Amino acid sequence: MRVTTLYGSKRPVISMEFFPPRDEKGVQAFTGTISELTAAGPDYMTVTFGAGGSTRDGSYQTVQLLLKEMRQPTVAYIAGYGLGPEDITAVLDKYKALGVQTIFVVRGDKPQDEGFKPHPKSFGHASELIAFIKGRYDFTLGCAGYPEGHIEAVSLEKDIDFLKRKVDNGAAYIVCQYFYDNAYFLKYVEKCRAAGIGVPIVPGIMPVYTLKMTQMLAKVCGTTVTAALRAKLDAVDAADKAAVLKLGVDFAVAQCRGLLHAGVPGLHFYTMNRAGSTKAIIDALKAEELF
Ligand SMILES: Cc1cc2nc3c(=O)[nH]c(=O)nc-3n(C[C@H](O)[C@H](O)[C@H](O)COP(=O)(O)OP(=O)(O)OC[C@H]3O[C@@H](n4cnc5c(N)ncnc54)[C@H](O)[C@@H]3O)c2cc1C
Repeated sequence: MRVTTLYGSKRPVISMEFFPPRDEKGVQAFTGTISELTAAGPDYMTVTFGAGGSTRDGSYQTVQLLLKEMRQPTVAYIAGYGLGPEDITAVLDKYKALGVQTIFVVRGDKPQDEGFKPHPKSFGHASELIAFIKGRYDFTLGCAGYPEGHIEAVSLEKDIDFLKRKVDNGAAYIVCQYFYDNAYFLKYVEKCRAAGIGVPIVPGIMPVYTLKMTQMLAKVCGTTVTAALRAKLDAVDAADKAAVLKLGVDFAVAQCRGLLHAGVPGLHFYTMNRAGSTKAIIDALKAEELF
């Protein structure tokens, strides 16, 4: 499955992101999650790739499980940080043999493991990795965008220049980091278009799952917890798990409603390997006949 065919033929395209389960127990829970979520009718699933190749085998097994056993259209990710060209081709050759047609390419970040030694020929930026893959494989490639700017970016404008380089080097679609104010995304798309980036730009949706996770991830990802969301978080009892999840679903439904009205090509859900919130959000949007 080439996701560009999907973005070219229907709107909105619904995608869901997963990380590889850590152990056998996790695999069982994962298959349950996927079964629940397939009922929501996603167009494709995606599987992340751990920093420094840490989930290399787990990512492959998860892609295989989704694609071959669960028969789900699946995009495999690759994160190049610290890996040499032969490491990259070894991973991609296996994905190609499995029948994967779309690869989402990110630079990745320095692994937590203190002893990790980057390969001397590793790729400094995603744009270089994209050019390397494009020259050797027939995959459709995707890349990451950051509506609030990447945390290391000198400026949003410079970040968009580098995004354009990723597209010029072969990325055919962009999936964005999540945000809690649609204005960030909509202005970002405007700026990307003005910079000459013409490919589909897909918003990422991260429902609030727990208050702790929301605060921690926002810091790591450089996402602003807006005053509107902050007020809601302050008003809920953090220990009331059901109330927090409901807040997250309601907030994301409102966000998705606005994005769909603005005509986005798709919605990409960061599921954190949980079914409930993503399914509830999609069910609510369908009930409103938004798609
Ligand atoms: C949808 C999505 C999925 C993700 N999946 C994964 C995953 O599976 N595994 C994982 O490890 N991480 C994942 N990430 C996180 C990602 O790896 C990190 O955000 C990482 O820090 C940057 O990756 P990138 O591909 O955007 O890097 P790049 O595009 O290389 O950008 C990184 C930084 O370098 C700057 N830059 C880019 N090119 C140049 C240049 N030529 N010269 C100077 N500066 C430059 C940019 O402005 C930016 O600040 C994902 C992110 C998103 C949004």
